[in-house]
Amino acid sequence: MKITIITIHPGLLESPFGHSIMKRAIDKGKAEIELVNLRDYAQGKHRHVDDSPYGGGAGMVMMIEPVWNCLNALKKAVDFDEVIYLSPDGERFDQPMANRLSTLKRICLLCGHYKGIDERIREHLVTREVSIGDYVLSGGELAAAVLADAVVRLLPGVLNDETSALSDSFQDGLLAPPVYTRPSSFQGWRVPEVLLSGNEKNIVEWRHASALERTRQRRPGLLE
Ligand code: SAH
Repeated sequence: MKITIITIHPGLLESPFGHSIMKRAIDKGKAEIELVNLRDYAQGKHRHVDDSPYGGGAGMVMMIEPVWNCLNALKKAVDFDEVIYLSPDGERFDQPMANRLSTLKRICLLCGHYKGIDERIREHLVTREVSIGDYVLSGGELAAAVLADAVVRLLPGVLNDETSALSDSFQDGLLAPPVYTRPSSFQGWRVPEVLLSGNEKNIVEWRHASALERTRQRRPGLLE
């Protein structure tokens, strides 16, 4: 899968893809992350990508022209399945959306800044708008990193044991059960006996019951 990210701060996105599972996915060729600097498609000596809002008011608005130029240039090489604008008022990102996006081959993520982007970009140039939650970030980069991480780890062959993505929270409609590792007792706080028993059937049952209980307590909506 190829994920192209259009940003005015490519540096913000280097670290999230330079470590751990994301780095391994890229090194193994399972995912390709392309960072595109929007400023390269802006005009004039100062390469402006933003301007003051029509009608007045505080803040700057990202201009349509650099985005149009950038997308047209990229589309010569790649036919995007989706062009996604990260936006606090977009459709809420969740695990089912991550699953759907992970089946695509090429997606483009557009990061906004300042007061947001010219509405005509949203109307005419993007195919989908996604929010990572009901709060406002200063730019779309962290949201793009969150989306890309959640999607890339689902790609076949990215996690060593493919069942480990399947047993994560939300994937089977439940939250994940508690997990423990050595030592079996710390400060008198003991790991549940069943996990030490070696009885596979009991362990599977305990995990399922714990997942159900945790979901009932913390996200009862998932059980409906
Ligand atoms: N004035 C806008 C917020 C702009 S925040 C409003 O009130 O809706 C600047 C940029 O950060 C946005 O263009 C968007 O790309 C990104 N952003 C902020 N919060 C986000 C969120 N919750 N999810 C996804 N992107 C977000």
